[in-house]
Amino acid sequence: SKLFGQALSRRIKATILYATETGRSEMYAKKLGEIFAHAFHSQVMSMEEYDMTSIEHEALLLVVVSTFGNGDPPENGQEFAQQLHSMKMEHEGNSSNKSLVVKSSPLSSASFIKANSLSESHYLTEMHDSINRDSTDVDNFGPLGNVRFAVFGLGSSAYPNFCAFGSYVDNLLGELGGERLIKLTKGDEMCGQEQAFKKWATDVFHVACETFCLDMDESFTEASQVLHNEKLSSSTVRFVNSEPDDLRTAYAQYHNKRVCTCRLADKQNLMINSGDSKSDRVTLWLEIDVDEWAQSEKIMYRPGDHVGMFAINRKELVSAIIPYLQCDQDPDEPMELQMLKEKHTSTGVSKNWSPHEKLPRCSLRDLLTRFLDITTPPTPNMLQFFASCATDATDKKNLTVLATDSAAYEDWRHWNLPNLLEVFREFPSIKPPAALLVAQLTPLQPRFYSISSSSLLHPHKVHLTVAVVTYKTKGGKGVLHYGVCSNYLLDANINDTLYMFVRSAPNFHLPDDVSKPLILVGPGTGIAPFRGFWQHRFAQKQSGFESRMGRTMLFFGCQYKSMDLYKTDKMEMINEGVLNKTYLALSREPSIPKTYVQDLMQKEAKMIYELIAVERGHFYVCGDCKMAENVYQTLKSIIQEQTGMNSTQSDNFMLGLRDDNRYHEDIFGITLRTAEVHNSSRLSARIRMASETLP
Ligand code: FAD
Ligand code: NAP
Repeated sequence: SKLFGQALSRRIKATILYATETGRSEMYAKKLGEIFAHAFHSQVMSMEEYDMTSIEHEALLLVVVSTFGNGDPPENGQEFAQQLHSMKMEHEGNSSNKSLVVKSSPLSSASFIKANSLSESHYLTEMHDSINRDSTDVDNFGPLGNVRFAVFGLGSSAYPNFCAFGSYVDNLLGELGGERLIKLTKGDEMCGQEQAFKKWATDVFHVACETFCLDMDESFTEASQVLHNEKLSSSTVRFVNSEPDDLRTAYAQYHNKRVCTCRLADKQNLMINSGDSKSDRVTLWLEIDVDEWAQSEKIMYRPGDHVGMFAINRKELVSAIIPYLQCDQDPDEPMELQMLKEKHTSTGVSKNWSPHEKLPRCSLRDLLTRFLDITTPPTPNMLQFFASCATDATDKKNLTVLATDSAAYEDWRHWNLPNLLEVFREFPSIKPPAALLVAQLTPLQPRFYSISSSSLLHPHKVHLTVAVVTYKTKGGKGVLHYGVCSNYLLDANINDTLYMFVRSAPNFHLPDDVSKPLILVGPGTGIAPFRGFWQHRFAQKQSGFESRMGRTMLFFGCQYKSMDLYKTDKMEMINEGVLNKTYLALSREPSIPKTYVQDLMQKEAKMIYELIAVERGHFYVCGDCKMAENVYQTLKSIIQEQTGMNSTQSDNFMLGLRDDNRYHEDIFGITLRTAEVHNSSRLSARIRMASETLP
């Protein structure tokens, strides 16, 4: 009867949806699927695969989503967001005629939805409105009245709109009448994400079993083991010799992108060109020949779009890691990773070896060089796996402490920022089986770069502006670490093949109306897309564009005069009348008071007010996320000063700018003062987590 009870309970469907940019949400969603499979009929799928007409009939809907950039959904969550929004609009139209009022909001989020799709203002108003609303304010009579749901949002608290997409989905599901099983939980990349997920997954499973009156004594114990034990073992994963995959196909399948093969045509160090002697920092200008790509893929891009670049890990790092792995095969022979899968059939359970879902067929060395992330510090789960491999008792004990004590883990991680080799050197008895390790490493993510050219001026080329990242661990006193992609590009030779794809940035395009004034703010490499903008306007002018072009002001900032990127280009554009004025904020030039772009904006408050508020121009900011937040606040205070608005009114003005699609942000992440910002964000994340766990 117990088996019968279990079989019955497993007929209750649990649908688990994810939207992922890097694969992390997908990984968590799949883990959740395994847990729920102990008591429910669980199905895991990406939001883009989901048939939205089923949503009203779901009994249990679990959502795991990340937030990209400054508040956007991942690409595979955009349509779901639109459809949820449409349901909301329809529901509101049918019910009490609730009007959507733009509320004051401390947020400075970018739009979720591409500007060229549905009316953006609806989304923004909706998003701000729903995020500000108390999440217990639920209308139980909506179309999702029969749906029980819970949401786990992934994000980084270093960004201003932490987990904005998770909050959006959670609020809308509630407002459409869904019953929230437990409150939205946010997993912070800065601190304790994996622990937060484990706790949420355990809690939501518990509550779901109770809600559906399932006897969960045994299933609960089994299910919670999923979180702590990896199902994989040496006897369920293996390498077998095989023919290698073609590289472009391998990238395309592994990352699910339209990958293009290109050629590095030219490369210069902008810092050396500018005669800098004060620092050994390098910022590269790269010219990439995309002829082949344009012909084979017919991909067009617009200024403001990004390139996703596939990097390779450093040769010496890979070569030093391989001897730590147990592997019978030659690391340079192509192989296929296979998993032993169980299949439940009417005649019993059958076991078969099948190829790994995504990993390409290539040598172990290529897997570690091109496809797997070996530089991000390992997660607690990975450390647990390492503890199980370690043969030395002290290694085992110390690894177990790191894997289970989150405070010890966070301290260790942020101080040492260890790559895989450094972990093996610290705990030399680990020696994992190569196939088992490979099956658990996460993909080496493509890095994004803003296109620094216009296809009107350089039809067969893409230019990039790349700051080369190096830093020392242990608060600047440890070993030197090299940023993977920027150093790969630094070391690349002319004519080398590059693999990349284009990611459209519809919220960061030039306005079609060339008469609109533009204010462009981009310190450091934040200038990258603006070079594409001015080239585009220059080409339009050259081709006899009749219409009068709006005034264009550029605010750039760097530490020293000698780091003034694209100085000659800018002067030419001033002479051509494409740029009307450029402002240079120098932060470390001796004998000049430290100046940031926002200080210069403040000095030009009247002009900015005229161009943005009176002439209804467009404001663009690009680069580091803290800088972008400072710039946003500065513009807000300029509007306040110039108009006499109070804080709420100026907040509404700023939201209105976004709703009109006249405030555009292109956020690179934490790129300026990285160590400092990481430390303070971690501290706040810890304080927030501690206060959340207080009784
Ligand atoms: P990684 O191997 O990714 O290492 C960088 C990581 O190292 C950081 O994230 C941080 O965790 C750590 N780190 C860095 N410095 C320190 C420090 N001092 N202390 C401790 N830890 C540290 N970059 C450009 O140069 N030009 C562009 O046009 C550009 N456009 C972008 C557009 C978008 C939409 C995005 C998201 C990013 C953009 N970036 C741009 C950033 C770029 O994608 C990469 O993040 C950057 O080049 C670093 O990549 P990497 O592989 O070299 O370094
Ligand atoms: P940069 O020249 O270092 O900085 C540009 C200017 O912005 C400087 O004057 C800087 O001043 C200033 N600035 C710092 N914080 C600011 C704030 N909150 N608001 C406004 N301005 C601010 O810029 P870069 O050339 O783009 O970046 C170079 C550094 O970033 C390199 O060290 C590179 O390694 C790193 N980088 C890291 C990544 C990454 O980790 N993902 C990506 C790209 C670049 P001060 O420095 O004097 O404060």
